[in-house]
Amino acid sequence: MCAERDSGDWRDAGLATRAIHAGQGPDPATGAVMTPVYQTSTFAQHGVGGHAGWDYARAGNPTRDALELALASLEQDPADQGGASPRGVAFSSGLAACDAVLRQLRPGDHVVMADDVYGGTYRQMARVHQPWGLAFDAVDLGDLDAVAAAIRPTTRMLWVETPTNPLLTVFDIAALAELAAEHGLTVVVDNTFATPVLQQPLALGADVVVHSTTKYLGGHSDVVGGAVVTANDALAEAYRFHATAVGAVPGPWDAFLVLRGIKTLPLRLRAHGAAAERVATAAGELAGVREVLWPGLADHPGHAVAARQMHGYGGMVSLRLADAETAKRACARFAVFTLAESLGGVESLVEHPAAMTHASTGDSPIAVPEDLVRLSVGLEDPDDLIADLRQAVAGD
Ligand SMILES: *Cc1c(COP(=O)(O)O)cnc(C)c1O
Repeated sequence: MCAERDSGDWRDAGLATRAIHAGQGPDPATGAVMTPVYQTSTFAQHGVGGHAGWDYARAGNPTRDALELALASLEQDPADQGGASPRGVAFSSGLAACDAVLRQLRPGDHVVMADDVYGGTYRQMARVHQPWGLAFDAVDLGDLDAVAAAIRPTTRMLWVETPTNPLLTVFDIAALAELAAEHGLTVVVDNTFATPVLQQPLALGADVVVHSTTKYLGGHSDVVGGAVVTANDALAEAYRFHATAVGAVPGPWDAFLVLRGIKTLPLRLRAHGAAAERVATAAGELAGVREVLWPGLADHPGHAVAARQMHGYGGMVSLRLADAETAKRACARFAVFTLAESLGGVESLVEHPAAMTHASTGDSPIAVPEDLVRLSVGLEDPDDLIADLRQAVAGD
């Protein structure tokens, strides 16, 4: 594998520079400035076993390698100059990345998971891993005593998501990592909502970061993908082996699209955050809105932790309206925001989590409120977004 060919080269550079250059040098064969889409399943060998680092594309492809180097570079702790370079492994979806992480556990092992996680993560845990012998408890990770009480002799992993999808709850990664270290637990952080631009969990003590690159990293709602990043070499090897042995790998086109998205990630996140601040503030003034959930608001319960562990508050805003029917009717009235699942793209999206993205948690302990509306604030003119929000909420 040539995947390590320029890892670390951009260690000293700022995040925006790494987003554009790490892993993405000009193509050595042609000088192409953009990473080529190596649309090939196999690679010619000049003698048996003699090749340039790639033999079969399930195991590795140069476009995917570039993506993995870029992802690893973005999660690099800038203060940890002497430390191990993180390594990234790309997957065909965020849930395939979660699966690779959870499959490192063994039957009988126990996981403490946030009681407020992406519905698909909960469903995978409850309906795929639990029947194969993993045990888990969904716990309020904001309550460290509750977390400590949930840890059993068989607990191996603490699964954190912050800010959470869809309630925008913020958990204190450093405090959780400290507690987990006392019990020898692997700390996994789903960093999909924050992205490495706003939050670097490895620098806060986490062992593993997972991403749905479908969201902000891709950024244009045109690709489904996932990634795992860790500075633990044994875990990195295990994830890479899992990707090759199981095969949930992204194709070169998908890898290219995520790479192209990453180049503008720092710029986009700034604009998403600024627009979200305006939308959240405007929403707070609407009579039909009972509660605005955005970690940047001073009265958000996680604001102080977010201010400390994040570099900005992101583009996701959730609203609680009068009741389920009001929320569903409002969702259908938006005109600039598109009613659709997913998030993190340049276009604004609105959805009703209880009936859409989180329907799979419906009768579980982590069911989301039915009066909740989730907004992914995009890059349109914020004035248009606010006018759209006003008419959608005022409609009744
Ligand atoms: C979307 C999402 C996932 C799952 O990713 P897919 O790419 O849809 O498989 C996992 N975690 C969070 C927080 C998400 O928003």
